[in-house]
Amino acid sequence: MSAVAVSPALSIRGLSVSYRTTRGVVRAVDGIDLEIGQGEALGLVGESGCGKSTLGRAIVGILPEEGSAQGDVSISGRLFSQLPDQERRKARGSEVSLVFQEPMTRLNPLMRVSDHFVEMIRAHQPDTSKDDARDMAREALRAMGIPPTRLDNYPHEFSGGMRQRIMIALGIVLRPRLVVADEPTTALDVIVEAQILNILEDLKSSYQMGLLLITHNLGIVAQTCDRVAVMYAGKIVEIGDVPSVFSQPKHPYTQGLLRSLIHLDTTELSSIAGAPPDLLRPPPGCRFAPRCPYVMPQCTQRVPLLADVGPQQEAACYLYPGA
Ligand code: SF4
Repeated sequence: MSAVAVSPALSIRGLSVSYRTTRGVVRAVDGIDLEIGQGEALGLVGESGCGKSTLGRAIVGILPEEGSAQGDVSISGRLFSQLPDQERRKARGSEVSLVFQEPMTRLNPLMRVSDHFVEMIRAHQPDTSKDDARDMAREALRAMGIPPTRLDNYPHEFSGGMRQRIMIALGIVLRPRLVVADEPTTALDVIVEAQILNILEDLKSSYQMGLLLITHNLGIVAQTCDRVAVMYAGKIVEIGDVPSVFSQPKHPYTQGLLRSLIHLDTTELSSIAGAPPDLLRPPPGCRFAPRCPYVMPQCTQRVPLLADVGPQQEAACYLYPGA
């Protein structure tokens, strides 16, 4: 009996994103290849401005007007990036959804929570009756730990943490194959953050959805994700399973990021000297070279490629063979 091939929740090939600015064209994301399996969570980390949020928006197809993307994005085996606009809009919510950082900017304060759900569900499934849509909404709220009796409340009647859970409920009510969560807990206190991360973890296993968790917080990745990808200046410089990357980071940038984490026994603060490059004119070769303590002549000549540095780990650095 032949095995049935299961498409990954997300597959990206050669994805680049450029922005037109008054100073010229900025390539914010540069030639990314990435896969997330069904039921798998991948954490995407890196300093502000490294391109991680742009990558999340490009996956979902909601770049601002001045941005343009090249490359292929497939969701559950379907070439999402090549779909006509109308079909892509339809697939958003039912095949892929994006959870943002600021729920209050996404929820209309004049609409009851129930109206948000009914509008969303019927935009994708016009044949769904209002009553059925309300039932689906109650179930999604229940999964988020929000009493379904609050379905007809307005957004301002909920706390910040509850509003974020409502956003996630809206994101998963149609059971998408992939959820992209961009800093979903940044504005919340640590207790609510822990609750939301637990919910995301439960969802990915019970619904077998893929989760791309974009965050600057490595602790969250360690707690929630199966794999981690580290981005620097528009490129992925290291990727692997969480235990390997956290215990044996190979790329000097990942090493610096992990060193700058604060632990209970931290006595001295550490940070990576220097600043990320200007993406209008990135340095030739390795983009981390101006900040790297191990820089060698070849580092400034050719761009290193991701190569195996362990059974479940790849890094783009000339310190390792194959780069
Ligand atoms: Fe440093 Fe060279 Fe590795 Fe870049 S390729 S991280 S400059 S050692």
